Amino acid sequence: MIADIRLYPLRIPRDVPYLGPLEEGSRPNAQGYIVRPGNRTVYPVHDQTLLVRVEAGDGTVGWGECFGVVAPQVARTILEELFIPFVIGRSPHDVERIYEDLYDLQRVRGHFGGYALDAIAGLDIALWDLRGKLLGQPVWQLLGGLRHERLPVYVSGLPGRSTAERSALARSWTDRGFSAFKIAAAVADLGEVAEMKAIRHAVGDVPRILVDLHWRYTALEAIQMIDRLCEYDLHLAEAPVAPEDMDGQAQVARAVRTQIGLGEEWRTVYEYLPRLQARCMNVIQPEIAHTGITGFRRICELAQAFHCRVMPHATINLGIAQAASLHVAATSASFVMHEYQHSIFDRNKQFIRSAMDCQNGFFDLPQGPGLGTEPTEEALSFEIGRN
Ligand code: MG
Repeated sequence: MIADIRLYPLRIPRDVPYLGPLEEGSRPNAQGYIVRPGNRTVYPVHDQTLLVRVEAGDGTVGWGECFGVVAPQVARTILEELFIPFVIGRSPHDVERIYEDLYDLQRVRGHFGGYALDAIAGLDIALWDLRGKLLGQPVWQLLGGLRHERLPVYVSGLPGRSTAERSALARSWTDRGFSAFKIAAAVADLGEVAEMKAIRHAVGDVPRILVDLHWRYTALEAIQMIDRLCEYDLHLAEAPVAPEDMDGQAQVARAVRTQIGLGEEWRTVYEYLPRLQARCMNVIQPEIAHTGITGFRRICELAQAFHCRVMPHATINLGIAQAASLHVAATSASFVMHEYQHSIFDRNKQFIRSAMDCQNGFFDLPQGPGLGTEPTEEALSFEIGRN
């Protein structure tokens, strides 16, 4: 029985903001947020997240993590006011039923995604962790069996100040055994083509290079851009056009000679289904802190029916969501490689207890029971409002 649920919104200071140093003249606002002009999106200069701690009647504890990159208090309020009272007293073995019941609570209000689903996601991850611990099994085992013991990764983001610095960083990663990279259009100050050319030159012919286009282009602009990037053997173009433009997504996917990856901003099978039917992408990139384990697995199974590959997204988080993502990815027949947010994971792994690590191009799967990953006491000292 689920006896208690507690929430921990965390804010962990960083020396260099995610995606690299601030642009000239850019200063965080009073809440600690900046807008990256490259994609007009708000980012925190800290690492922010929302942890969920569920406790069973026998004292066993499960941990989950919601997408809390911006405004982590929103999912907290939704959980406290709406969802938690309907979960206390239920069995953690009903985790998928609980996911569906919580989704149903908000349907008539029109909350089919967004913060409401982020709240469900973190709770769902915590319940899977708890269930695994109660059964003495890793989560991957509960999901039907292991396919990948070590998970290949691509290095995401090269937080240098210039194309030259980022090229040198890419080179240093190849020296450490990593052979896939994703470059970020939002910070490519000389443009995507110059960035791609420089990185390709720095790493040589073999490594795979992906480009995140950050939803910046019209379909025609994206097709022309991707054609030029393909001259440097582009492995995948991510998010070329606005997420609202489903026809544009399908048009790009049909026209280009490389893979299109989409999906980090979607939360349920209902958001994926029409894009899969319209053949908008070849690769899905679900983010588990948006989807939960239940949603993530259902999205992967749906994508498999459309012969899409899976390259999970990795967000700014403490590492609980990262562990959950690896557990599900390890059971997916369509999994190819996982995003590796080194500038976040490597820094925050000091705040978790886990065997999970990323070396020589691979993530090691954390060992259970449950997720095999918990926050340290020090992590909880970053709770917003505690200090
Ligand atoms: Mg992205």
